[in-house]
Amino acid sequence: MAVGSALRDTDRVAAPAPHACNTRVHGFDGAVLDTSAGGIAARTFVDASGLAGARLLGPPPVSRRALCAAAQYVHHVRDRAAARAFFANHGASADDTLVFTGIAGGYSIVNVRLHDGGERVGVLTGSIPADGHPSGRALVERFVAENAWVGAVDFGGARAIPVGATFATLARSNVAAVGDAAGQVYAAHGSGIGAGMLAARLLVDTITAGKSPVHYARGWRALYGATFREQNALRRAVQAMRPPQIAWLVSVGLIDENAVRAGLQGQRHVPSLSQLRRAVVRSLAPSFAPGGLA
Ligand SMILES: Cc1cc2nc3c(=O)[nH]c(=O)nc-3n(C[C@H](O)[C@H](O)[C@H](O)COP(=O)(O)OP(=O)(O)OC[C@H]3O[C@@H](n4cnc5c(N)ncnc54)[C@H](O)[C@@H]3O)c2cc1C
Repeated sequence: MAVGSALRDTDRVAAPAPHACNTRVHGFDGAVLDTSAGGIAARTFVDASGLAGARLLGPPPVSRRALCAAAQYVHHVRDRAAARAFFANHGASADDTLVFTGIAGGYSIVNVRLHDGGERVGVLTGSIPADGHPSGRALVERFVAENAWVGAVDFGGARAIPVGATFATLARSNVAAVGDAAGQVYAAHGSGIGAGMLAARLLVDTITAGKSPVHYARGWRALYGATFREQNALRRAVQAMRPPQIAWLVSVGLIDENAVRAGLQGQRHVPSLSQLRRAVVRSLAPSFAPGGLA
């Protein structure tokens, strides 16, 4: 939702609304928000309305190949023993989160976790349909169809996440965007909650210091630009890979626990020289079976 700060009456404001909840933004003329609660004027407008929201800074510049179709559903478990067996068959305990990667293109995931002592199961998925793969919702449906122990759906939903570069325009004049509305997502794993909170913190600090939204945009680039560019580069690389290539990187030790941890935490990870040396030695070993790079 777009939020106005420092509200002031003007003759164009139908109903000043300092805290207008459940209000839909229909349009913006650069000075007054057109909303379901009337016109709202403010010194600064913040668009935090997500990818398909109010678009105060214009349509999101995101290509379809950088849209992750994600879904998360919680289902009742029909057969708890069979659920536990499913985890055990994959070498996991019922308390673990089972993650299947590369099941629908390099950038895809099916993540399965039991909740409430095994009474319910959460299935989280994501993929890039523009590359010709099934959507996150279709991956959930496939998982449910293939596993008879999964019962009726409890709740859930599906939506697109922008996993490309942070949008070039984060602010203009009296408007700033944060979160998905600004493409602020850790692209390597499609996480936007932390990124949006970093942006919101920076924006509040900037505005309360008496600076403009444009300073917030500059601050974002200076503080986080490099990290989010690297995340996007990693996403593109992974998206272009096929499962055997990912398996190869894991088997020679170039994708290890440290690399995954750094990726999840949005930190840079550069393989050490000894890691690279080990990878070459492992690849050349006569017993090495990478699973094929073809
Ligand atoms: C299935 C799934 C799982 C995910 N899992 C994770 C995860 O584990 N960790 C993580 O970090 N990220 C995750 N994400 C991504 C994360 O949900 C988003 O990056 C994050 O929610 C973006 O927050 P936001 O506030 O920018 O936008 P949104 O969450 O989209 O919120 C926008 C709000 O604006 C409102 N709005 C929209 N249009 C208007 C309008 N015209 N007027 C007024 N209000 C409007 C909407 O109703 C909504 O309340 C997941 C996404 C999906 C789809």
